[in-house]
Amino acid sequence: MKPKILVTRQLPEAGLNQLRAYFDVTLNPADQTLEKGELLDQIKGKDALLCLLTDTIDQSIIEAGNRLKVISNYAVGYNNIDVKAATQRNIPVCITPGILTEATADLTWALILAVTRKIVAADQFTRNGLFHGWSPTLFLGSDLTDKTLGIVGMGRIGAAVAKRAKGFGMKVIYTARSPKEIPDARYVSLDELLTEADIISLHTPLTAETHHLITQEQFNQMKPTAYLINTTRGPVVDERDLITALKNHRIAGAGLDVYENEPLLTPGLSSLDNVVLLPHIGSATVETRTKMAVIAAENAIRVLQGEKPHALANPEVYNGTV
Ligand code: NAP
Repeated sequence: MKPKILVTRQLPEAGLNQLRAYFDVTLNPADQTLEKGELLDQIKGKDALLCLLTDTIDQSIIEAGNRLKVISNYAVGYNNIDVKAATQRNIPVCITPGILTEATADLTWALILAVTRKIVAADQFTRNGLFHGWSPTLFLGSDLTDKTLGIVGMGRIGAAVAKRAKGFGMKVIYTARSPKEIPDARYVSLDELLTEADIISLHTPLTAETHHLITQEQFNQMKPTAYLINTTRGPVVDERDLITALKNHRIAGAGLDVYENEPLLTPGLSSLDNVVLLPHIGSATVETRTKMAVIAAENAIRVLQGEKPHALANPEVYNGTV
């Protein structure tokens, strides 16, 4: 008899096909997140769980998984999972780092360009038939050349964003918990970064330490001409303070892919014209999402076959330190 897996949402077929060859697959057929009650019910008797960043896998779900041997998250971030509860039961929590780095870095640059050059408003203006000829003052944005990009969190995605900055002739400064070997990028404190950078791009994971890393206090340190870009996780920024900073022109603008109470937007955000809003599409390319599905499937299969998965949020389950 095949082991059983619960897949919480439709995935690219390449990953599902791999799963079907090895597992007896229970797939949520609806293109929406399972309710907590449904998760609690469906996890019972399953050997494996393949979940998404939109699924909250808390202790009660992990406990309800009476036969659960692996949790494979279709994401690099894992703030949606109670990793401690999984580790206590010796359940590996697998993630998909690396493969979504380039797509997310590209999208970060799409946001930087969109907000500094008013791309969305200019597109709407043109579609609405308002373009009556070239004008010296139409949709003036800000240059990127010779400006400073400040990267908060210099990991895989932060480094890929920094690499692209070279092509735009930007200086790069960054902060992380420790300095890295990144060519042409200067390590600074968060305070220095906030006061010096023209573009501030967030790339830390969401943890207790980074929750509300950017609040009114940090906005007050930024240049009034600065732009904030967030493609990591919404709660890294206090969204109400961001709205105040944008409304009062305390900063020039923002580009967001993620939100504090996703998918809800804090009231007032969507009526601002100095912010570009995307629906969490950082890794959303056909190639990347397909690779993520394959890696997430392989992770679940490897664990049940007694092999090490590609990447883990709790490597301690394998090195015997639990
Ligand atoms: P990563 O390689 O682990 O890099 C994280 C970086 O954050 C590291 O440089 C780390 O510094 C730094 N960091 C951690 N805590 C910090 C703190 N308190 N203060 C300052 N820096 C801190 O992760 P990644 O692969 O680049 O991914 C980053 C995040 O992007 C993920 O966790 C996920 O939430 C998000 N993401 C979003 C999308 C999207 O669709 N929008 C797609 C993919 C990923 P040290 O190395 O010094 O510890």
